[in-house]
Amino acid sequence: MQTEQEKADIKSMTKAELTDSFARLGLPKFRANQVYDWLQAKGAASFDEMTNISKEMRTVLLQNYYIYNVTIEKKLVSAYDGTVKYLFRLDDGEYIESVVMSYHHGYTICISTQAGCRMGCRFCATGMGGLARNLRPSEMLSQITTAQRNNGIRISNIVLMGMGEPLDNFDNVMRFLALVSDTEGVGIGMRHISLSTCGLVDKIEKLIEMKPQFTLSVSLHAPNDALRGEMMPINNKWNVERLLSACRKYAEVTRRRISFEYSLIRDKNDTDECARELAGKLKGMLCHVNLIPVNTVKGNSYERSSQAQIQKFIQILESRGITATVRRTLGADINASCGQLRRKKKEESDGNLQQD
Ligand code: SAH
Ligand code: SF4
Repeated sequence: MQTEQEKADIKSMTKAELTDSFARLGLPKFRANQVYDWLQAKGAASFDEMTNISKEMRTVLLQNYYIYNVTIEKKLVSAYDGTVKYLFRLDDGEYIESVVMSYHHGYTICISTQAGCRMGCRFCATGMGGLARNLRPSEMLSQITTAQRNNGIRISNIVLMGMGEPLDNFDNVMRFLALVSDTEGVGIGMRHISLSTCGLVDKIEKLIEMKPQFTLSVSLHAPNDALRGEMMPINNKWNVERLLSACRKYAEVTRRRISFEYSLIRDKNDTDECARELAGKLKGMLCHVNLIPVNTVKGNSYERSSQAQIQKFIQILESRGITATVRRTLGADINASCGQLRRKKKEESDGNLQQD
């Protein structure tokens, strides 16, 4: 009998891979189709749920394959807007977070791509704890299938903006995207998916060659190296100029609009001068600026900008031809921004209980 670790990660397999793997075990193709449907479309969490598969065959499956699932450790529902936040437990005891938001066009899920993150952005709760490990494609899929089942809903949009840096887990994220967009599986098309990166330029260049159909969001947060370098260590590897030139190329080649995320921090990156500098650097690019009032995180002193300054910032950008919107704050009462629940859980299990 194989140990769990030696068994194949069945929910991360494409239909073709599953069919091949089944053939090697002497199982027919139609069985692969059935099991793929259970795992990907129905989101089955165990072989026992697969009622059209005989008990004998389920035993064979159990001996050869493992289904990586996330399990609900905690669920918080916002009394304001119905936003649901999950703290999920992984099979090895790690924790990650996902958030389900309700918009007029349907449900959007924000999923994690790593347990933790090694990018160390100063304003980010996830970054403060470092990276535990990459998530498998199955663990990314399971966040969606578990949330759909738990709420009895169908999710129509995905944002890769939870914990972790998706491009730092490149191959697993690309495999996840292929699986989740398969019409025989979860079936969420690439045009309904956004991937957010802090700016790994080598990986953005790799993406350009792939001409993806998803939306690329880039966490810019500052218009120059002095400010950005202070907030985001990645800027010391790839500075604003190199990042923006990769973004320009991306927009030109893919003809898809880049979304720049910009978290507004009082008296730091929210000045009129920053807005003018930002507009100057984005001029002529197919892009949009998404302004996010910064979420205050324990461990830094960043504060939100005033409403008046947020409006002024937008007005400066728009007067220079750059479209900008302020992200609606959802789930304000449940700490919906990622990284905070996991951090609390970690502190508890470290015996380091702290008050918020
Ligand atoms: N690692 C990726 C995706 C996950 S972070 C990235 O950095 O883009 C998702 C978004 O939340 C990023 O734009 C990130 O900069 C932003 N973010 C992180 N902490 C935040 C905070 N405290 N307040 C506001 N936005 C924050
Ligand atoms: Fe990582 Fe993104 Fe947080 Fe930066 S903002 S530490 S890249 S999760």
